[in-house]
Amino acid sequence: MRPIFQPWLVNGPSGDPALYVDILFERRALLLDLGDLAALPPRKLLRTSHVFVSHTHMDHFVGFDRLLRVCLGRERPLTLYGPEGFIAQVEHKLAAFTWNLVDNYAVDLAITACEVSADGRLRRARFNSRERFARCDDAAAPLDRGRLLVEPAFEVRCAVLDHKTPCLAFAVQEAMHVNVWRNRLEELGVAPGPWLRDVKRAILAGAPDDTEMAAPSSTAHGPPERRLTLGLLRERALRLVPGQKIAYVTDVAHHAENTRRIVGLAAQADLLYIECTFLAADAAEAGRKAHLTSRQAGTMAREAGARAMVPFHFSPRYSGREAELRAEAQAAFGGVVA
Ligand SMILES: [Zn+2]
Ligand SMILES: [Zn+2]
Repeated sequence: MRPIFQPWLVNGPSGDPALYVDILFERRALLLDLGDLAALPPRKLLRTSHVFVSHTHMDHFVGFDRLLRVCLGRERPLTLYGPEGFIAQVEHKLAAFTWNLVDNYAVDLAITACEVSADGRLRRARFNSRERFARCDDAAAPLDRGRLLVEPAFEVRCAVLDHKTPCLAFAVQEAMHVNVWRNRLEELGVAPGPWLRDVKRAILAGAPDDTEMAAPSSTAHGPPERRLTLGLLRERALRLVPGQKIAYVTDVAHHAENTRRIVGLAAQADLLYIECTFLAADAAEAGRKAHLTSRQAGTMAREAGARAMVPFHFSPRYSGREAELRAEAQAAFGGVVA
């Protein structure tokens, strides 16, 4: 099955962190971190609907201005997520510019900034270009198991990590695929058709097994319609396959609690983007700067059961020695290093 997420590290493994995740068939994209975005052409940036910022060290947030500039005057709203304190930082970014002529834009750009508060809630504030980006707070809502964004096709969850400042890691998870065995439908005496879409929807929404679905009969004799339970369909004619999962982890201290949260968030990820900032030989410095070494990252990827890992955020000190960082990650991980 063709993966719906097409991720691209905008600045490669050594440049500022920014992961552009194009979503197939939706003409839109997600951005994970906002490092320098000069390499992203405007038509790609314009597709961005949601942005997930791990933390606001400059190398992860300096691209905000370019994103804002490209999006001004567009109709589609923009939503950003970040750790505790993030809303005020977006507010200050916006307040750094003069907006006296912004009324000339035909359309209003609506920005929503959300932050994961220390008590595990999601705070929100809106900023509209029509209002010259004056802050307007919305009510905070409880955050259900770190789920920041839940849509029919996919969801994005976060884990709050420690980088001597709160730092978010993200998992982008496609919804379950519900595959239909057509020949088995025949055995059940029903024909395929649009009703299967309702079946898939009901299963993804978690409907109970005794839910009855109406299906057209496949035989000429007898009633034209049959009623089948979801449980029977699930058992005899459907196969549930997990969708694609991408995890993104960067700028984290190496300790047991971070490791536990990362392994939980990234469990069974198809692709784990994880910082490999330092070599193990420089572990003491990595510790002081609250970053991971390649070996630590590779070990976490193995513990998470990731199918493949993508090392990134290499320290510039290893310019020309990237192969060493990869080799160290590979040795600890034991799987595919992209
Ligand atoms: Zn960084
Ligand atoms: Zn950082």
